[in-house]
Amino acid sequence: MTTAFPPGPLGIFGGTFDPIHIGHLRLGQEALQQLGLSQIRFIPAGRPPLRASPCASAQQRLAMVKLAIAGNPEFVVDESEALAATQSYTVDTLTRLRSELGPERAMVLLLGQDAFVRLESWQRWTEIFSLAHIAVATRPDSANSTIDTHSDDSQVKCTPALAREFEQRLGTVADLAKSPAGRILPFTIPALEISATAIRQQIKSGSLPRYLVAEAVVRYIELNHLYR
Ligand code: ATP
Repeated sequence: MTTAFPPGPLGIFGGTFDPIHIGHLRLGQEALQQLGLSQIRFIPAGRPPLRASPCASAQQRLAMVKLAIAGNPEFVVDESEALAATQSYTVDTLTRLRSELGPERAMVLLLGQDAFVRLESWQRWTEIFSLAHIAVATRPDSANSTIDTHSDDSQVKCTPALAREFEQRLGTVADLAKSPAGRILPFTIPALEISATAIRQQIKSGSLPRYLVAEAVVRYIELNHLYR
């Protein structure tokens, strides 16, 4: 596992990554550039608590993340959740990283908007704000362009408790230089309508996800007969 932390705010990007795709990689790159992060740590979940078991094993998903980010020194993989014997919760991973990183350095948990609106279902979710900032990637298309904390007819709507946190904690990139944790920072990324679910379905129906995932990942999927 890579343990070196370069100076500057650190991005943390967890996911099932079943498989990792271009949408994930682009989110990481946009966060790096727009938020001025020094590194993105990709953390593939071992056994994700809130969803069905992944199709590929933790080892395979980890291998695909490594292939996808190879050659980019600002993207590193954190193997801890994938290799853990028990279920891992983000709050515990952030607690460990915070103790390694010390109290001063800004840590930024990266979430897609769909993941953010479900934050209240996460283990000890309010503790996350004392450990890290949260950057929410929103997409510049109609229904998903903002995080809706009010209207009833939105496709992506915060729960009331999360909406309160959102309104109180709303911050800007400048906050990353002022505090190590506690703000919510929306940032806009180009819409890439790619999902791991659609990729798995595509493979099942017989075609490889070329140009939706990194080419090395296409080869890994083919070689290991994944998602058939
Ligand atoms: P699945 O379809 O299996 O649910 P997924 O493609 O959504 O998977 P995850 O590993 O569950 O991928 O997602 C990890 C994170 O990446 C989440 O925060 C999610 O919101 C975000 N994300 C997934 N796809 C995209 C995309 N195309 N653009 C931006 N963010 C994305």
